Amino acid sequence: MKIDEMGEKLSKRVNCQVSWDDYARNFYSVDSSSYTLKPSIVVFPKNELDIIKIIKFAKKYHIPATARGGGTGLVGSALGSGIIIDMKNLNKISLGTNHVKVDAGVFKGHLDKILKKQGKFIGPNPSIGPFCTVGGMIGTNASGARSLKYGSMIDNLIEVKLVNAFGNMIKLPNSQHAKQVLDIIPSNIEKVFPKVSKNSCGYRIDKIYSKTDVHKIIAGSEGTLGIIVSAKIRTYKIPKNILLCIISYKTLLEAAKDVSKINELKPSAVELVDNNIVKHIKIKIPSQTECILFVEFYDNIKQNIKQIRDITSGRIIKIETNIKKITELWGFRNSALVYSLKSITKNETMPTLIEDAVVPVKRLPLLLKILDIISKKYGLKMIVYGHAGNGNLHIRPILKRRDRHLIKKIASEFFIGVIGIGGSITGEHGDGLARSEFVKLQYGKQVYSVFKDIKNHFDPQNILNPGKIISNQSTVTKNLKI
Ligand SMILES: Cc1cc2nc3c(=O)[nH]c(=O)nc-3n(C[C@H](O)[C@H](O)[C@H](O)COP(=O)(O)OP(=O)(O)OC[C@H]3O[C@@H](n4cnc5c(N)ncnc54)[C@H](O)[C@@H]3O)c2cc1C
Repeated sequence: MKIDEMGEKLSKRVNCQVSWDDYARNFYSVDSSSYTLKPSIVVFPKNELDIIKIIKFAKKYHIPATARGGGTGLVGSALGSGIIIDMKNLNKISLGTNHVKVDAGVFKGHLDKILKKQGKFIGPNPSIGPFCTVGGMIGTNASGARSLKYGSMIDNLIEVKLVNAFGNMIKLPNSQHAKQVLDIIPSNIEKVFPKVSKNSCGYRIDKIYSKTDVHKIIAGSEGTLGIIVSAKIRTYKIPKNILLCIISYKTLLEAAKDVSKINELKPSAVELVDNNIVKHIKIKIPSQTECILFVEFYDNIKQNIKQIRDITSGRIIKIETNIKKITELWGFRNSALVYSLKSITKNETMPTLIEDAVVPVKRLPLLLKILDIISKKYGLKMIVYGHAGNGNLHIRPILKRRDRHLIKKIASEFFIGVIGIGGSITGEHGDGLARSEFVKLQYGKQVYSVFKDIKNHFDPQNILNPGKIISNQSTVTKNLKI
């Protein structure tokens, strides 16, 4: 169908804005990843009924439909060639005692403000801060620094309402789908999943033990199983006392080895940044520092100060308990990606490819070894930062533009290494265009075929965000805009 015809036809069916001018199509052809893919049309549903009509339209004419939140995803998972469904008009929030019911299009920044008035917050906190939406956070199974204490979205999702590929509204876990989904998943499947504290690769069937868990399948499903309309999410009390320690290390390895010991003290966050980031941080940092850890504790802070002094092999360079100053210091950590970009010269590029591996925390030194081997082999600069407490490091390889052809090789070798040490190729950002072709490598044929059955149950015509998670094409370099 021609684009004009598609736009006009859909406009007649829905009660909301539909755009297919070049400006809209170009705007939605990018997200925060290194990819670009121009959609045919963009639609802005105002309510559930609009979404149902959009999906029925997509189904009737076999047009791919991709949900979009804030577009802050880093792997191209919100990019699609057909209809982009921008969820921002679905924005209601309803507060409960220990949970919040929230529409998918609500931006985290807005939700945080509303919850703060009640002395509450949600656990997962991507470093992008206010700019991602609840739908996108569920879509990627987002986490962030404090997932060390509170887990990822999958651990905080109580209920989810979505429109499936048939244009039906379903609520999970309480629907007839719960039993059907459960029947697809072989028992003991969790045994073949990596033993890591967070994971956004494939469908998280390892977390589904009974009918009451079935909603968890949607966390990290990247819009491939349904369009999330709203969700019920756990909330927590804002802690009364917070302590932030900044610890400097002479080597990355020394810091990596320290993390397991620090984790025994049950911190709320242990975040690492390497010297590419450290040089932008405006506090006094000893020379020869190659890496620093941000270690945060809640509530028992006097005891924690003593404990961290006893346990760390690094040098504590700052101890802060003032909330305003702590927020400022976290700003340096949360700007790590921006600081990384400053390290690239004109002839270089930093694709968002191998940037989200997670391994068992004790194996962080092995992850660094893999990096060292790959960077030496291909002459790469590597920037390293991330959620060390979870064993989840964001690794940003910088390569010469002329070496673009090496990208798939580098990614494959890195992923084989990560899988070999019991890790997952993505801890929180998902598969998208960057990693979907490696999902089979991660889990093997048997698990992958269960993933296909799950997809087939929700979306047999492959309408919803096709090519993400289940993919029979190589997309790792195809739509790179570098
Ligand atoms: C600087 C920076 C720092 C970041 N830090 C972190 C971090 O610390 N931790 C972390 O986890 N992530 C991080 N991210 C990645 C990103 O912010 C998160 O993945 C975020 O959750 C994406 O939300 P979004 O609303 O922007 O989703 P989008 O990018 O719009 O979409 C992401 C995926 O979710 C799907 N989706 C969106 N809405 C719906 C819906 N209603 N129904 C079904 N599917 C939907 C999309 O189809 C897509 O597959 C960071 C990104 C940047 C740019």
